[in-house]
Amino acid sequence: MDFGVLSGGLGSIKAATELVSMFRDSLKAGTIKPDEIAGRFADLYDYLLNAKDALIQSRDEIQALKAQLDDRQKTDIIESQLEFDGIAYRRNHPDGTKTGPYCPSCWPLDRKLLPLSKLPGDMVDQYKCSSHGSFIYEKTNKPSPFINTRGRSYYKP
Ligand SMILES: [Zn+2]
Repeated sequence: MDFGVLSGGLGSIKAATELVSMFRDSLKAGTIKPDEIAGRFADLYDYLLNAKDALIQSRDEIQALKAQLDDRQKTDIIESQLEFDGIAYRRNHPDGTKTGPYCPSCWPLDRKLLPLSKLPGDMVDQYKCSSHGSFIYEKTNKPSPFINTRGRSYYKP
């Protein structure tokens, strides 16, 4: 977070309050000339505008940081619910249900939980990730061989 922006805004508010205080004292003492009043208001307006800009910028930055934090927390929750069965990820939900299988590459690499779709086949079980292509493994559910039919390597946790 850019604290310089926030400090600048606070400085503008401080300058504005000092200006108002001086202005009030001058009015009470009758030492301010009528043609100076417009100039003081213009200065006050500038200070308030600077403070407003700094607050808007700070608010936007806080919102962006909050969104990042929310994403991180969601990722941590999902991570704590995942289980790798030697072939793919399965997710254990708090209500006791399980979902999956999910791609063994998409989660470790991109933090994306992409469901694998099972393709028809008699000799082998074949799953497909929409991002990484097809994965084949033997019906015996042995963790290997694990072949990516697009010839791309896959991440094995
Ligand atoms: Zn994938």
